[in-house]
Amino acid sequence: MAALNSTVPSALTELYSGLDFASLSWLEQTWVSWYAYIDNPTVATGLMSFLIHEVVYFGRSIPWIIIDAMPYFRKWKLQPAKIPTPAEQWACTKQVLLYHFTIEFPLIFLFHPTAEALGMQTYQVPFPSLKTMAPQVFLFFFFEDFFHFCAHQALHTGVLYKHIHKIHHKYSAPFGLAAEYAHPAEVFILGAGTILGPLIYCFFTQNLHIITVYLWIVLRLFQAIDAHSGYDFPWSLHNFVPFWSGAEHHDFHHMAFTNNFSTSFRWWDRIFGTDDKYRAYRKKVREAKKAMAGQSEEKKKEWEQALMRQIEKEGIEAEKEAEAKSLFGGSSKMD
Ligand SMILES: [Zn+2]
Ligand SMILES: [Zn+2]
Repeated sequence: MAALNSTVPSALTELYSGLDFASLSWLEQTWVSWYAYIDNPTVATGLMSFLIHEVVYFGRSIPWIIIDAMPYFRKWKLQPAKIPTPAEQWACTKQVLLYHFTIEFPLIFLFHPTAEALGMQTYQVPFPSLKTMAPQVFLFFFFEDFFHFCAHQALHTGVLYKHIHKIHHKYSAPFGLAAEYAHPAEVFILGAGTILGPLIYCFFTQNLHIITVYLWIVLRLFQAIDAHSGYDFPWSLHNFVPFWSGAEHHDFHHMAFTNNFSTSFRWWDRIFGTDDKYRAYRKKVREAKKAMAGQSEEKKKEWEQALMRQIEKEGIEAEKEAEAKSLFGGSSKMD
């Protein structure tokens, strides 16, 4: 307790009274020290949430920037003719940073009061065990994936597409940094899938620590950035976990404009048939590779490029149709 009393000032001394500081793990001690140092749980949670987001988002994007700069990795690029230029990456970074600092930063301070009101543990230690956290994180993955599957399809119709989601579709061959390149309204709509799961779960169970929410958000950020990376490696997760979406799934959404609306898992697109074009494309590529076995690499690449151009062309048409579509079905055109 001696160590705690010397580091925990005023407001939090009472909250942490009776705590055996020495029995805590390094991470838990750092956690207590952070809340004690800031001495205001709302500010401490807000700042920590923002910092985790920035560090993970840009930290995870750095390897993809390096990979884009190295021709060695081109053989695994899903759309090899479209490598993002440094200028494009910088323009995207500036836009993402602008939204993070002007919109997300002020709003993030609402997180602590909301979480506390719903009974979430925040400054408290010790942390829950991994056995408690793992099923909760899986549930959040499941909830977000289905929420995104529905909301993303709504964003592909009429005014919602034209005025909101179109921004995210600026890149028909996405890259890691473009994961959050989106209209602020889209960040609210689709971000709800990430944050509502934990809030609803917490409301009903009264058994959730914010550290579990952070673990979920970090994994979700990895998922989103990697899905936008534009690369499919032999060691990519979907090769081992067949229902995992990954870049191979989401890159097609950007290239073809249609199909593959979910985030983490493939099952909803499969069940509802919103992966028909994607599967037909994969089948075509597989069959052509077999049929062209004896031909040169150049010829194979040429053929694949032509198919990609065709799909992208169809996507441009589909985009026009989506803009004309009313949210409740049918065309919003007067004719
Ligand atoms: Zn979309
Ligand atoms: Zn995307």
